[in-house]
Formats: sequence, C-alpha cells, structure tokens
Amino acid sequence: MVNGAGAYQVFSDRLAVPDVAEEPLLSGAVRSDWYPVHITVDESEALERLADEVGDRRVALISDDTVHALHAHRLAGALADRGIAVSTTTFPAGEASKSMATAARLLDWLASGAVRRRDVVVAMGGGVVVDTVGWVASVYMRGVPYINVPTTLLADVDAALGGKVAVDHHTAKNLIGAFYQPKAVVTNIGYIDTLDDRQLRSGLAEAVKKGIISSPELFELTERSHARILAREPEALRRLVHAATSVKCRLVERDPYERDLARPLNLGHTVGHALETVTGYGPVLHGEAVAVGIVAAALTSERRGLLPTDGLERMVGLLRDIGLPISLSQLPVDVAVEDLIGALEQIRKIRDGSLRFVLPTALGEVVIADDVSTDEIRAAVSARIGEFAGSLR
Ligand code: NAD
Repeated sequence: MVNGAGAYQVFSDRLAVPDVAEEPLLSGAVRSDWYPVHITVDESEALERLADEVGDRRVALISDDTVHALHAHRLAGALADRGIAVSTTTFPAGEASKSMATAARLLDWLASGAVRRRDVVVAMGGGVVVDTVGWVASVYMRGVPYINVPTTLLADVDAALGGKVAVDHHTAKNLIGAFYQPKAVVTNIGYIDTLDDRQLRSGLAEAVKKGIISSPELFELTERSHARILAREPEALRRLVHAATSVKCRLVERDPYERDLARPLNLGHTVGHALETVTGYGPVLHGEAVAVGIVAAALTSERRGLLPTDGLERMVGLLRDIGLPISLSQLPVDVAVEDLIGALEQIRKIRDGSLRFVLPTALGEVVIADDVSTDEIRAAVSARIGEFAGSLR
C-alpha cells in the first residue's frame, strides 16, 4: 500500500476466537530441514560450492588454530577474493575446547559484530569445531544459519551431518546440545591429506560402525579399501566418504530429532563416551573410544548368544586391521576398569537409571538392550584380545 507519506507493508488478519472449551488449545510448529552435502575433491571445487551457498551474505568463519593455519586462512582469503566479506576467529584445537567456555567466547565474538541475522557462520574443522560452532549458531539470536566445512574423515562421514550439535560438560560428553541442521555441508576430501594417520583411523571407526548397524555393503567396502584409504588414495577416499555420508543421511532422516531413544547409531558410544570422560577428553580419540566400545558391545552380544563368533571376529578383525585399539590395554593411557564402570553408572543416573546398549547381531542388524548388567560390561571391557576365539586368538 502506498500513500502520500511512503510505502507500508500491510498485515491484515481475521482470526476466529473459539468458545471456551474443556479441551486444551493446540499449538504447533512444523519444520523441514533439507540441506545439500557437496562432496568435492579439491579446494577450488569446494570454494565454488561454498561461495554458491553463501551467496551475498557476510561470513563468520570459525575454525581451530590447527585448521586455521593449515586451511581456513586460505579459504577465507579465497572467499574475500570473490568479494565476500569474511571475519575469522579460532580456538585451541582438541576436545578440551568443546566447552561452554569456548562457546561463550564465540558468542561474545559474534555479538561484537561478526554476524547479523542474515549472515552465515561457517564451521571449518573436525568434529570439535562443527559440534561447538553448530551449537553456538543454534543459540545465537535463536539460530543463525551455518555451513559445515569438515576437515577430518570423522567429521566428513559423521559429525558434520545430522545436526546434532553440542559442547561437553565435565560430567558427561555432549550434555549441553541441540538439534540444529546446517544450511549446507561442503566436504573436500583433499583436506584429509594433512590429517595424521591416527586421526584418519579414528574417522574410519565411525564408517565401520555405520556398516555394522545398517549397511553390509559399506562394511565390505571398508574391508576392501581401508589400506588404500590409509594410503590416502583419492578415489578410495571419495568412494568411502560418499558411501558413508549417504548411509548416515538415510539413518538420520528416519529420526532426525531422536524421538526414539533406542538408536542403532549409538553402537559403541555408551562405553565410548564413558571412556572419553574418564580420560579427560583428549588422550583417547573419539573414534578410538568408539572402536573399544564396539568391541565391548560385540563381545557382550556374542556372550549372550546373539552374535555368532565368526561375526564377532569379522567386526573386531576389521577394527584391528585398520589399526584401531580393540581393548583398554591398547589405549595410549591407562584406564582403570572401575573408573570406566563409575562413569557408566553416572550416565545411567543421568538417563533415569537405564543404560541402553546397541548389540550387533549380524552385519546390518542390531538389538537394543537396557538390561546389560554391570558384570557383563566389566567382563567385556576387561577382555584381552587373547580371549577372542578363532583368528583373533
Ligand atoms: P577434532 O575436531 O578434535 O579434530 C582432530 C584433530 O585434527 C584436531 O587437533 C584438529 O585441529 C586436527 N585437524 C582437523 N582437520 C585437520 C586437517 N585437515 N589436517 C590436519 N589436522 C586437522 O576431532 P574429530 O575426530 O574430527 O571429531 C571428534 C568430535 O566429533 C568429538 O567431540 C565427537 O563427540 C564429535 N562427534 C560428533 C558427532 C555428531 O553427530 N555431532 C558424530 C561423531 C563425532
């Protein structure tokens, strides 16, 4: 509408007022969050996709110190060369930074002018960066758009996808979090070139997990190609990242807000998270903790007669062949079994007395049990490789 004084945007409504009734009034909000995951093979292709997604917005690019020095400073420069306004900040690398303290510092930085509501936050790094920055993006101004640019294999195939964002609390991992989907994910497998072997193996643990719970095809691909992946052959990496990304996206779509707490994706994570907590979030990498957790779950399943011994051997054998730890004794730090049990009991308390275990029963098949006893857990995490049957003996 235009009048003499200027233009107005007109809002006109005729909401009906119902009679007073016994039934509750209903209030609802429906949202649907679809986003593209671009899997690229080099930085110039990644830059194209990222610039397209950013459009004419300003960018607040957040990474950790290591990723900034290796890659993010270059990406920021390339975006600026394209006329995109970019501000950058970093925080120290490592799980200890996945904290409220880091989040508070990032929120201060955003509030100091780095981001307005229509701008976009870019989280560039491994799982620690995408989890922390995603959570910050979810709360800042009740949610600003963010794009993930993962730089570790673990973030490529897992953390950057699915919109589970969180920081850790000293009592439990990921205790302070949200579901907040990114606007897009731009993966560049070229970034894996600078990743060390231990981190690369840690990322493979999450691919193995997804193969076990839902895709024999992905499991077999990982069996066939892990040596080439560890040798960083681009085609093998691309194939695996593509396959594992696709499987993760399909799994998340089924229950994106985790209404069903019985979640196969948590295979290896009950023991894995407790292990990370008791070791102080750092010395044991996430994928390493998950690998030990998968072995504990598979062993428990085999001892209950749910998983045939050759199935156990195949699962544990792949983790071992990749070079992942398969028992507490192979971790880089000493972990007392009773400390681990204590951390699990703490998680049980937080979860209203129930500790859910995902137990694999075959490739592509799991059961969820909430009756795994402390003795069973103790036996599984105390097991040494020599106790496994067959080829693992
Ligand atoms: P990370 O982010 O700590 O990265 C590992 C190390 O590699 C860091 O020191 C980092 O600076 C460095 N790094 C990153 N990219 C690099 C590169 N290209 N070259 C060289 N160094 C590089 O750890 P991560 O293993 O990527 O992620 C673990 C975290 O992810 C955990 O906190 C875990 O809880 C979380 N996670 C989240 C989800 C989810 O769904 N949100 C899923 C799985 C894991």
